[in-house]
Amino acid sequence: MRFEISKVLDAIEGRVCIDPSLARAVVDLAEVIRWQDLDGGRPASLLRLGMVIDALSRQVEEDSVPVYAIVHRALLSDADLTSNERMVVRRWADDGLVEVLDHPGDRMLEVADLLGLPVLSRARFDGLGGRYPWLGQAGRVLAPVPGAGGPVFIAHVGGGHSPAAGSRSPVGAKLLARQWRCPEPGCALFGGGGGGGAFADLARVDRAPAGQPPPALRNGVPTCPRHGARLGDAGPRPRSEVLAVRIGGLVRRRFALTETQPLLVGRAPDTSGGVVLGQWLNDEARRWISRSHVRFELRVGEVIVTDTSTNGSGIRPGGSMAEPDRIALAPQQSRVLAEGDLVELYPGVQIGRADALTSDAKFTPNSVMAEAPTMAMRLPRP
Ligand SMILES: [Zn+2]
Repeated sequence: MRFEISKVLDAIEGRVCIDPSLARAVVDLAEVIRWQDLDGGRPASLLRLGMVIDALSRQVEEDSVPVYAIVHRALLSDADLTSNERMVVRRWADDGLVEVLDHPGDRMLEVADLLGLPVLSRARFDGLGGRYPWLGQAGRVLAPVPGAGGPVFIAHVGGGHSPAAGSRSPVGAKLLARQWRCPEPGCALFGGGGGGGAFADLARVDRAPAGQPPPALRNGVPTCPRHGARLGDAGPRPRSEVLAVRIGGLVRRRFALTETQPLLVGRAPDTSGGVVLGQWLNDEARRWISRSHVRFELRVGEVIVTDTSTNGSGIRPGGSMAEPDRIALAPQQSRVLAEGDLVELYPGVQIGRADALTSDAKFTPNSVMAEAPTMAMRLPRP
């Protein structure tokens, strides 16, 4: 039992991130874990985060949809969680997958505001509409409630049941154009080291700069939400472009391509950070697609694709699936990917800009709870 729960928590871990270009909704973890009516189980359960992530995934009809979780520090020692769950949340905190804060305040709304993300919460946020006008817009605040096949979303205000992303606020866009550095050593959110002194060379930015979360604003000053320290400006943030892969009609995951590093995509690329498609491929596709099939680079704002495979690829100009439109991309050949263009590794396996790819049929995305579909119901009482 414990082993199965660990596997579910591992799957959930793959769906929490504070990368501004990948997160799709913001949650307050302390709130989510106490939605006891979702499964009728223990007072607090980390598995409820998985249920909410699944609901989000079903709504946006994509696999691997990550959420941005704000975590109150008290949660790390919350006795209502199992010791295993507390350990997992601490690991997420150490790895910078979530934001752990002593006083979260309205940080969840601030993040949603800066990034233009929907909020998954049952709170009403009365009186905050002046500061965050989008609170009244359809789909921007959705409350997960029990439904027949897992949680469903309802709106307290603004109507709608489908999460709607807005655009980054002007302040958010400005903050996210720069890299930030926290003076606190080992800061999991904004690099470590403090950027100076004898050990400056050893100061390691664990997080890819393009994936840094949005700073908090205190009296207009960019501040580390974890440490309350004023952040240093560490130069322009590398540009990035969000790509997505669609397999068998369903968008399986998004990934951020940055100016700083090319990205390999294939059955099982050797390099760290490569995008692994193997788990979604059938036998024929697995035989055809090379371990590293294509390489993407972002250069002066242009996405360049290079075939690195044995069998070659194809380009679908403007996303056209008509056979005469398909352009062959031979091994070692490169091409600039125009807006709307898709790279086809194999029939039904396509990669392009995330906004150019939608799931083209009604599929059920994979559940993070797949290892234990009825686990939440069967949990042993503490
Ligand atoms: Zn910090």
